[in-house]
Amino acid sequence: MSKNALVAGGAGFIGSHLTDLLLSKGYNVTVVDNLVTGRPQNLDAARKNGVHYVDCDIRDASGLAKTLAGKKFDEIYNLASPASPVDFAKMPVFILETGSIGHRNLLDLARAQGARILFASSSEVYGDAEVHPQVESYFGNVNTVGHRSCYDEAKRFGEALSLSYKIEHGVEVRMARIFNTYGPRMRPDDGRITPNFFIQALQGQPLTIYGDGSQTRSFCYVSDQVAGQYALMQSSESRPVNIGNPIERTVLEMATTINKLTGNTAEIRRLPLPENDPKMRKPDISRAKASTGWEPRVSLEEGLQSCLENFRRELELAGGKITARVLGG
Ligand code: UDP
Repeated sequence: MSKNALVAGGAGFIGSHLTDLLLSKGYNVTVVDNLVTGRPQNLDAARKNGVHYVDCDIRDASGLAKTLAGKKFDEIYNLASPASPVDFAKMPVFILETGSIGHRNLLDLARAQGARILFASSSEVYGDAEVHPQVESYFGNVNTVGHRSCYDEAKRFGEALSLSYKIEHGVEVRMARIFNTYGPRMRPDDGRITPNFFIQALQGQPLTIYGDGSQTRSFCYVSDQVAGQYALMQSSESRPVNIGNPIERTVLEMATTINKLTGNTAEIRRLPLPENDPKMRKPDISRAKASTGWEPRVSLEEGLQSCLENFRRELELAGGKITARVLGG
């Protein structure tokens, strides 16, 4: 018998890839999304494979009860949240409510149905980390009143709430701490490093580097990311687990790589480093490997190549012009 899954945020970048993966494994999949940052076209493939789409905001408990009435789920994946730093200034209250009230509504559903639930947490729970690479036992270095605090604290609260539902109600929870993930279906004007650099480079514009570009990130291709989340859901690991690729690059190295890949020769444009921008980020994935057997497979070169094709197509569809969203710009 096929299993039934609910993917909250399934019209988003990572959620739509997870939806495709679950459909390929024979699941019946329902997506719930309010399209604040998700896009209907992300579900084009899933629609052909029978996904059921529900338009609802997960903060709305009665809306969820109405739109999901009669449906029974074995697994609930909560990937609903804006995640780009350019969104943090635009809708901070919405982000906090989605990670708290929204996640609570899904935990209640999991509790009522005896379903497992995975919370998409984030490497942002570590803040500007003083431990490198980041291990799950590290408590983090987070500013509660900074530019990124709405997102960081929403994710920290979501983890605490998940654990509390496990302790108080015996809910089977999973927590995936997602590290920087990239790939096709990111919004081209999403504002994060990969879409910004590709969209700028493909239009022959200078890449915008915040600060001196020496800050690092570790980049995980989206198919690896969703494979990790799926493996975590199937495992018995209820502690938080880092899901990411330990390939670490400076922002400057990413700029050079993307300029080379696209043949862009424009100079770099330097902009101020945003407040609390983490200096170094790299996951320790020992727990993920030990608990799930998962590890990432896609090299940065392969992943960036598929991004190149994707962002070229996005530009074509937009008539050749897209403005990258730059922080403070
Ligand atoms: N960044 C940059 N230029 C851009 C976008 C991002 O230099 O146009 C830098 C940003 O300061 C950060 C890194 O790239 O150090 C990754 O940023 P992103 O917004 O992708 O994700 P974050 O890891 O900060 O949440």
